[in-house]
Amino acid sequence: MENKNDIRSLKLDELTSFFQKNNLPSYKAKQVYDWLWKKSSISFDNMTNISLETRDLLKNNFVINHIKIEKFQKSNDGTIKNAILLHDNLLVESVLIPTKTRTTACVSSQVGCSLDCEFCATSKMDRIRNLNPDEIYDQVVTINSQSLNYYGKPLSNIVFMGMGEPLLNYNNLIKGITKITNKEGLGISPRRITVSTSGISKMIKKMADDNVKFNLAISLHSAIEKTRNKIMPFTKNFPLDELNEAIKYWYSKTKKMVTYEYIVWNSINDDDEHINALVKFCKSSPSKVNLIEYNSVNSSFFVSASSRIISKYVNTLENNKIPVTIRKSRGKDIDAACGQLANKLK
Ligand code: SAH
Repeated sequence: MENKNDIRSLKLDELTSFFQKNNLPSYKAKQVYDWLWKKSSISFDNMTNISLETRDLLKNNFVINHIKIEKFQKSNDGTIKNAILLHDNLLVESVLIPTKTRTTACVSSQVGCSLDCEFCATSKMDRIRNLNPDEIYDQVVTINSQSLNYYGKPLSNIVFMGMGEPLLNYNNLIKGITKITNKEGLGISPRRITVSTSGISKMIKKMADDNVKFNLAISLHSAIEKTRNKIMPFTKNFPLDELNEAIKYWYSKTKKMVTYEYIVWNSINDDDEHINALVKFCKSSPSKVNLIEYNSVNSSFFVSASSRIISKYVNTLENNKIPVTIRKSRGKDIDAACGQLANKLK
């Protein structure tokens, strides 16, 4: 690894002062900045409107630590999973999920994860480090070009449902999303972006205060504390009433309905008590429920509930006027589905 600074860690004004210090005009700094962000260039050699001398000056002072596709897998349902190599040889995974109407990028926010959801493959790895804003941005650029190449259209949606807990890498997440949404960068509307969290209440409030424009999904899986503590042990420090408070606060500030992600398992949350607790939880702020198909991760403890129970959930929620959708698994044959990202490469 080289010791030079990554040029993409510089703000425009910082890059401009580098240019000024080297007696170069400021507008050239803006041109380089556009190459880096608007045109997602990963090489100084592409910057054709920048003189060779200036390119050499940049090369001598900076690097562009871009990501690389280490392994590409395409599922028989069209889902594409990329093992992404970072500049320090670590790996994360990013997935493209095509449907008839959408092409969605599922993006990682951390290498590994510090949480311990028992049903998730990523939680079996430690959290190694946070991704930088440009590593978050690069995943979207990479998957967007795959979407164009394979499906003839740009990404319609971006979900932070890959590896890691996005709200435990908040600053970089926001910087990355800013580049994804800004005119300086990809210009994708934040309304097409969803950040999924396992429920870090303090950070949900912070996001509300920061007036973010993207959508929020919360991995609830149970509205009963005891069950939630068992399947997501870290939630002992993140009680449901605090989560509920944070969600109310989120709604009061953003007027955006949250989505609860919810998996139904046999003998864990398949009874009336759990269904009723979910209904009650949902009623405290405008919300909808996304019932997620469980993807097995070699645990005998977690077994997906029958379709009869799922229908019971759906009917009860609908009877209570709570919108509900069912998310079918995609890319299971290549371990690209939710909770299966654990980079077997390593
Ligand atoms: N840490 C964030 C984002 C990553 S997980 C979060 O917890 O929301 C993305 C989604 O996949 C979450 O809703 C998570 O609960 C779900 N998930 C995890 N393991 C799964 C599995 N084995 N099958 C289906 N969904 C799973």
